[in-house]
Amino acid sequence: MDYIKKFRVQPGSCVDLEKIDASFKDKHESHQRALPEIDSYAQKLQDLQYLMYAEGKRSLLICLQGRDAAGKDGTINHVLGAMNPQGCTVTSFKVPSKDEAAHDFLWRYHKVAPAQGQVAIFNRSHYEDVLVVRVHDMVPKEVWSKRYEHINNFEKLLHDHGTHILKFYLHIDAEEEMARFKKRIDDPTRHWKISEGDYSERPFWNDYTTAFEEAMSQCSTEHAPWFIIPANHKWFRNLAISRIIVETMEGLNMEFPEPTVDIEEIRKKYHAIVEEELDEA
Ligand code: AMP
Ligand code: MG
Repeated sequence: MDYIKKFRVQPGSCVDLEKIDASFKDKHESHQRALPEIDSYAQKLQDLQYLMYAEGKRSLLICLQGRDAAGKDGTINHVLGAMNPQGCTVTSFKVPSKDEAAHDFLWRYHKVAPAQGQVAIFNRSHYEDVLVVRVHDMVPKEVWSKRYEHINNFEKLLHDHGTHILKFYLHIDAEEEMARFKKRIDDPTRHWKISEGDYSERPFWNDYTTAFEEAMSQCSTEHAPWFIIPANHKWFRNLAISRIIVETMEGLNMEFPEPTVDIEEIRKKYHAIVEEELDEA
């Protein structure tokens, strides 16, 4: 099965989240059985990120969105776990600070977009400004409704600069979200993660659904596609996301830069003597 095709929101299509099974796990019977495949994608991810860093020409922006407890942190842990921190940045976006709120809404995101050779992960993203902001009427409709176009233009600008953009919506259902909240309540090491907002947002479930659907319908483009990832099974979510990232990066046909020195010359000049000495010893 082609995961890029299967989970990608076709540009111009109309998203209906109700129709998508959040518990989908493809042919995999269990986490245990899927482990070799998960490990192999983690390894490939490591190699490809090293290559991107070495090449220093292209960059990758991964945006993670989803409801509370959808697994954004867990995904970052998994995906980033396979990467060299030197070539990666992670930024989590919270309620804008006074300074951020005094600028245009894209300012704080643009500042941390990836440099050439880098992978940037956004934990929440510029889409919050058409999600939570829309659901809670934080700005008037005439302001947020223009943002889809601003977002598409912003992403095109990044793309034209060599940034490949992948946006993942982690799709869980309402029962799974409550089950995860319950786990947090029962585990003292996770109490710090609980906020009252997690519960007080629940009555807005359908409003969020509408906002997510519109964002993905309006802003899934050829150069910055949205993917809807079934995320009730954490291991399947990790597998699907790392596979999509790997396949996208493989498609970039990246290459190691040409050496800046004459390797044979260096070998002769500095290694031949050492090897001779070793032979003599
Ligand atoms: P968490 O990701 O659980 O740490 O929560 C971060 C909170 O910040 C969430 O409730 C988000 O909805 C909120 N947030 C993120 N971006 C924005 C934004 N642009 N405007 C308002 N609230 C935001
Ligand atoms: Mg939270």
